[in-house]
Amino acid sequence: LKIKDRLEAIQPSTPFMSLEFFPPKTESGISNLLNRMTRLSALSPLFITLTWGAGGSTKDKTLGLLEMIQNNAAAFNVNGEDGKDALCTCMHLTCTNTPLEVIDEALARAKQYGVRNILALRGDKPLADDGTEGHFKYAVDLVRYIKQQYGDFFSIGVAAYPEGHCDGADSSEQDMVADLVYLKEKIDAGADFVITQLFYDVEKFLQFEALVRERVSSSVEIIPGLMPINTFQLFHRAAKLSHASIPEQMLAQFPEDIQNDDDKVKEIGVKIMRAMIEEIYTKTQGRVRGFHFYTLNLEKAVAKIVEDCSLLNRHIEQPAEASADQQQPRSF
Ligand code: FAD
Repeated sequence: LKIKDRLEAIQPSTPFMSLEFFPPKTESGISNLLNRMTRLSALSPLFITLTWGAGGSTKDKTLGLLEMIQNNAAAFNVNGEDGKDALCTCMHLTCTNTPLEVIDEALARAKQYGVRNILALRGDKPLADDGTEGHFKYAVDLVRYIKQQYGDFFSIGVAAYPEGHCDGADSSEQDMVADLVYLKEKIDAGADFVITQLFYDVEKFLQFEALVRERVSSSVEIIPGLMPINTFQLFHRAAKLSHASIPEQMLAQFPEDIQNDDDKVKEIGVKIMRAMIEEIYTKTQGRVRGFHFYTLNLEKAVAKIVEDCSLLNRHIEQPAEASADQQQPRSF
């Protein structure tokens, strides 16, 4: 299941969503996540992605989890356009500060498990500026390497930053327009789709999308990355760490007296995300039709957003007799 093929198989403007998870550290965490993924798969994500620790720090956890998912494909109830589909998986892979053998092993094992998609990333800033630490300096080097080693076996995605990429604490580095030259390099090297950094300012995303169409590619699939608002603290921290601005009107929806009320915050957050999705889809006239959720391995907020959003809830698996809550998915 290649993301490129899945994107081509659905009609233009057909909305879809995808989900990002990270590999838990403990056995019980893994089993909880697999159960959560089984339930979330009923929302029919077009694909799911699994993060990779910078420098290969989660190599065995990421690959081990992918192997479990691939071996248990039947446990995930994905209801695709043409009925049942297996869960389509994508492995994140970073390339800096990493020996070539680690990258080679990751790609070989992904192929062995039947994973057909790689999100090719740079990872942390290279330790040395001359590119001698590890074999790669930028994500484009990894895209080229995968193409060279594997041809079209993998569908490749790359990252982009609607407010500009930033390596350190200094947001003045962010220059979205300058980054576009390098985004184009990644697409020209063979990337099939783009997933963006999380953002909350739809206007900024729309400006970014328009510029990508003009300067990078008129047709590449741009999938905005959205982080559901689970708690006010997480919302703030995620925005800060990702150098994403929060529009004043959005912040004003969380007056101080509700900031510690997680249920209320989540409820407002669901409405905000739904409005963002609808605005992006409408204002791009369906050119942007896919939405990638950074789940943080949490289930409730993302499930509610998808269930409440008329653009995204059309493929939700409808249990024949039991309600979604009562359903007993396969247990890991
Ligand atoms: P690049 O595309 O290489 O760009 C990095 C910077 O270098 C940019 O400022 C770019 O403009 C500049 N640049 C690129 N090419 C050149 C060139 N030829 N000459 C000069 N400058 C150049 N990190 C993890 O560790 N694990 C993950 O699983 C992970 N998942 C992510 C998923 C998504 C969707 C996103 C958006 C980010 C993710 N990251 C992850 C973070 C990512 O590794 C960092 O943001 C990293 O700092 C940049 O990665 P990149 O692939 O965008 O790099």
